[in-house]
Amino acid sequence: MKTLIYWFRNDLRLADNPAFTQACLSADHLLPVYIHDSKEQETVYGFERQGPHRQAFLRASLDDLNSQLRAQGSDLLEFSGKPAEVLLRLLKDTSAQAIYCEQIEAPEEIEQVRMLQEQSVDVEEFWQSSMLDPQTFPFELEKMPDVFTAFRREVEKAQLKFAQPINAPKKIPALPATLPQGSILPSRAHSFLHPYLIGGASHAHAHLKQYFGRRLPDSYKETRNQLIGMDYSSKFSAWLVLGCISARDIAAQLHEYEHCYGANDGTYWLWFELLWRDYFRFIHFKYGQKLYRASGLTGVPVKPSYAPSFEQWRTGTTGTALVDAGMRELQQSGYLSNRMRQIVASYWIYDMKGDWRAGAAWFESQLIDYDVYSNQGNWLYIAGRGTDPRGGRPFNVAKQTQDHDPQEIYRKLWLSPE
Ligand SMILES: Cc1cc2nc3c(=O)[nH]c(=O)nc-3n(C[C@H](O)[C@H](O)[C@H](O)COP(=O)(O)OP(=O)(O)OC[C@H]3O[C@@H](n4cnc5c(N)ncnc54)[C@H](O)[C@@H]3O)c2cc1C
Repeated sequence: MKTLIYWFRNDLRLADNPAFTQACLSADHLLPVYIHDSKEQETVYGFERQGPHRQAFLRASLDDLNSQLRAQGSDLLEFSGKPAEVLLRLLKDTSAQAIYCEQIEAPEEIEQVRMLQEQSVDVEEFWQSSMLDPQTFPFELEKMPDVFTAFRREVEKAQLKFAQPINAPKKIPALPATLPQGSILPSRAHSFLHPYLIGGASHAHAHLKQYFGRRLPDSYKETRNQLIGMDYSSKFSAWLVLGCISARDIAAQLHEYEHCYGANDGTYWLWFELLWRDYFRFIHFKYGQKLYRASGLTGVPVKPSYAPSFEQWRTGTTGTALVDAGMRELQQSGYLSNRMRQIVASYWIYDMKGDWRAGAAWFESQLIDYDVYSNQGNWLYIAGRGTDPRGGRPFNVAKQTQDHDPQEIYRKLWLSPE
C-alpha cells in the first residue's frame, strides 16, 4: 500500500493541478496538508510578514479548498511550524513514502525542500505555476533573454500560447488510517474594503466568469492605469498567487474569448501582463539567489535608510498627497493598482532615498496578492537592480498626479477623514 503526503503550497485548487492529480493517481492513501510557516510571523523591520488582509484571503482560500476535498471524502490538515520539521514528523506518523508538491523556485522555498532531501525524503516537485510550459521554449531557462521584450519576442516568434489546463482528479485516495492531529495558528479574519475579493477557487471562477461575461477585456488596455474601482483591471492577481486558479485556466478562457469575440488590443494586453508574470518566474531559474541580494544584479551597494522616514512612507504620512493616498489604500484594503504600486515604490526609492528591500517587505506584509517572484521582480525593476537595460524607473509624482488624478478624486477618497 502506498501512502503519500500532498503538500499544498501556492496551489490551493484541485482543477488544473498536475502535481495533485499525479499524487492521486500514485497513492492508495493520501494525506493533503497545508503548513502555516512560522517564519511568516515577523520581519527584520518589526512588522508581521503576513498582515491581516493576506491572512484573511488565505483563510478563505483554505476553507474553500477544504470543502472541495471533503466533498470527495478527503480533508485538509493544517499545521503550523517550520515546513521541513512538520513534514518529517508527518512522514513518521503516517509511514508515508513520499511528498508530492508544486515547485517554487525562490530561495526560502527551495531551502524547505532541500532540508527534506537532506534527510533522504523523496520529494516529487512539479513546476506548474506559469502560463507557459518552459519545456516548450526554444531556449534553456538558464539562458533565457534577460530583457522582457526580447523574451516576449522569442515566445511570440515560436507561437507559444499556454499549456492546456487539466481537469480535477476524478477520485481522491482515502486518508491514511491513523491521522496526525492538525495544529494551526489562530487566524485573525479581517474584513477589507474590497469585499468582493474573497479567497478560494469557487470565488476565483465566479469572478472570472463575470469579468469575461461583462466583456471587460475589451476595455482593459484603456482602463488598466486607472486607480479606483474593481473593473479597470482584472483583479485576478490574489487568486493567482495562492493558486486558487491557474494562469493556464485564465489563458484558456482568454483564448476562448478571442475565438468568440475576436482578438483586440485589450485581450492582447491581458496576455502581455500574464507574460510579465511568467517572465518574473522564469528569471528566477537564471539568477536565483542573486535576485535577493541587496545590490540585486548590479553590485551597487544599498545605503542604510533612515527609520523614521520609513514610518512616514509606510503609514501614508509623507506629506505628498498621492503617495499618502496610495499607502493608505494599501494598508486599509490590501490591494493597490499597478500604477500606484509603481508611484509609491519609486517615491520610496528615489525621493525618500529608502532601502528598496524595506519597501518590498512592506508590500509582502500588506498585499493580498503578494507573490514572491512578482514582488521581487518589480521592486528590482523600479530600483534599477534587475534586468531592465534602462536602469531604474523614477516616476515624477507631480506629473503622475496630473495624469492620473487631475480632479483629486483618488486623493480625496483615501485622505478624507472618515
Ligand atoms: C512594486 C511592485 C510590486 C508588485 N508586487 C506584486 C505582487 O506581489 N504580486 C503580484 O501578483 N503582482 C505584483 N505587482 C504587479 C502588478 O501591480 C499586479 O500584478 C497587478 O496590479 C494586480 O492587479 P490585477 O490582477 O488587476 O492586474 P491586471 O492589470 O489585470 O493584470 C493581469 C495579471 O497579469 C499579471 N501582472 C500584471 N502586471 C504585472 C507585473 N508588473 N508583474 C507581474 N505580473 C503582472 C498579474 O498576475 C495580474 O493579475 C507589483 C508591481 C509593482 C510595481
